[in-house]
Formats: sequence, C-alpha cells, structure tokens
Amino acid sequence: MLILLKPNTRKEQVLEIQDFLKNIGQESFYVQNPDAILAPNNKVAPDHERYSCISEIKEISTPYKLASNAYKTETSFEVNGVQIGTDYANIIAGPCSIESEDQIFEIANFLQKQQVKFLRGGAFKPRTSPYSFRGLGKKGLALIKSAGKQHNLSVVTELMDLSLLDEVMEYSDIIQIGSRNMANFYMLSELGKINKPILLKRGMQAKVTEWLLAADYILSGGNDKVILCERGIRSFDNLSRNVMDIGVIPLVQSLSHLPIIADPSHGTGDSKFVNQMAKAAMIAGANGLMIEIHPEPSKALSDGNQTLSFSQFDELMTDLELLKPAIKKPIDANYSLIID
Ligand code: PEP
Ligand code: MN
Repeated sequence: MLILLKPNTRKEQVLEIQDFLKNIGQESFYVQNPDAILAPNNKVAPDHERYSCISEIKEISTPYKLASNAYKTETSFEVNGVQIGTDYANIIAGPCSIESEDQIFEIANFLQKQQVKFLRGGAFKPRTSPYSFRGLGKKGLALIKSAGKQHNLSVVTELMDLSLLDEVMEYSDIIQIGSRNMANFYMLSELGKINKPILLKRGMQAKVTEWLLAADYILSGGNDKVILCERGIRSFDNLSRNVMDIGVIPLVQSLSHLPIIADPSHGTGDSKFVNQMAKAAMIAGANGLMIEIHPEPSKALSDGNQTLSFSQFDELMTDLELLKPAIKKPIDANYSLIID
C-alpha cells in the first residue's frame, strides 16, 4: 500500500502514521518527491479522517513499488547543471579502465571538445579473471576526478564494495553499480541512504522485474536519483558477448518513471556494432548512452575489443546530430554550472 501525503505534511504527521503501521506489525518506508509512505505488505488502511495529511491510498500491484509509474510518472534531476531523465538524454563516455594520467586527461580533453558532459572510467574493475588488470584503485579515482574537473566533466565511476563508499562518494558525481553487483541487495539498500545519483546496470541474467526491484532497494531508502542502464544480457549464443536488449527500453518506460540509458559497448562487446546499436537505442527512446572510448583501443588494458577510437566516437556524435529529429530528447541540455 502506498500512502500519498499532502504537500507540506510535517515530520510528526509522518511519524504518527509510521507508528500506527509499526503497531500493527507493518514495516514502512518514507519517501519524498512526491511525499509518501510505502507499507509494502500492509492491508489495513490508516483512517483518512484521523490522519488528515493523507491525500490518497493506492495499491501497487507489481512486486516493485517505488520504481513503478503507479507511484510517479517521471523522474528528472540535475547533475552539475545538466538535466537527466524524462525528456532529456545524456552521453557518458570514457575508458573502460582509468589506466594512467596521460590516458584519462587525453580522453577528458577530447570529450570536452565533443561537448560531452560526463566522463566514465573504472578505478576498481570487476574482472572475470583475478589475473587481468583490475584498475588503479584509489589513484585512479583521484585521476578521474582531476581530469573531470579540468575539463568540466561530471564523473561516473563504479562502486565495487561498500568499504570504498566514502572514497567513491568523494571522487564521483554519479556512482555506477555494475552488472555483477545489481543483486548485491545489502549494498543497494545502503546506497538508498546517500545523496548521490546511482547508475544501476542491469544484471547480466536479470529479468526486468528483478532489475526494478533492485532499484526499489535504493528508492525505498530515500535516494530518488536512480538511472537504469541496459548493458546486454547473457544468451546461449557465443558469437556475441551479450545480447543488447533494445526492446527493454520502451518496456521499462511503460512500467517505470526512471531514466533508462543504454551501454552498447558491453551490450555488443564489439566496437564494429556499437555505432548501430547506440543509434538504435536512442531511436528506441533511451535517455542516453554510455560508450567506452580510448585513444588506442587495441592497447586498452580492459575491454579494448568493444572500445571506440576517437574518430569512431566522433562519427557517432555526427550521426546522432543527424538523427536529432527522430531522437527528440535534447542531449546534455541546460549545461550551465562550472564544476568546482
Ligand atoms: C563497465 O562499465 O566497465 C562494466 C564493468 O560494466 P558491466 O558491469 O555492465 O559489466
Ligand atoms: Mn568495460
């Protein structure tokens, strides 16, 4: 049951309803934007007359509640002056891994010239083999932050473990939760308590309901800034790294108010297909793209095969410009603030 509250409801009024729910043995979550109390398993409605701050009580029939568009119809927010979500789109680009000062500064410099506003790069890399390059760690975080600052780019980087939360909070503007951690539920609920947007990648085996339930772990803690990212799912076919699920974009948009972007780099695993799938995702209505780029993809320390060169990225940006009338969503709109 979702108890929607009138504007200007006071904290004491919220607590009174939560006490009522507690007394009948029901867990509840207070969320804002719009203000509501979610009592997911409750069947006994609090009395409207007694609690005058209640505007409406709704049953949400799906397992996920706060990610559902039955709770609200749209989510948009700003990151350093750039609009994300609803009718906006954003390009996030950068290397799979931060490899060196020269590499990340060269990429940041290139992206700034391309009018991109978000720089991605992993400092702690989830690698299948413990013997592969696993990132520069904390040194990488410091490098991406200073490259972002110098080139006016907001930083997106992955959080691999809660023990690193303070550092990743300090060095990033958006925290990425990778495919392998989508089902790390304890971690997700801790991210509900922070005030930083979370880019939640789809688990490589995750059904849409599971993905939206993962989002609910964050939303129910009170963090309403969640961006979903489709990055391909595993299939039986070993000719492609993943199956990029373009159909999931309109599907999720029919179920949820959350922004959804696409990562055709991991989605295809092959730089030859990234351009086409990036365009397909944007035409399908995505709120943006995450693209891996590198000055010399063949020398990248991770995911080189799916990484675009600068000229391939430039070509994609030109193609997207030509597709503007079909995409409709303004890309990286309202960028005004200087990152400090
Ligand atoms: C990445 O973005 O580099 C990454 C590891 O992604 P995923 O979690 O989707 O595999
Ligand atoms: Mn990668």
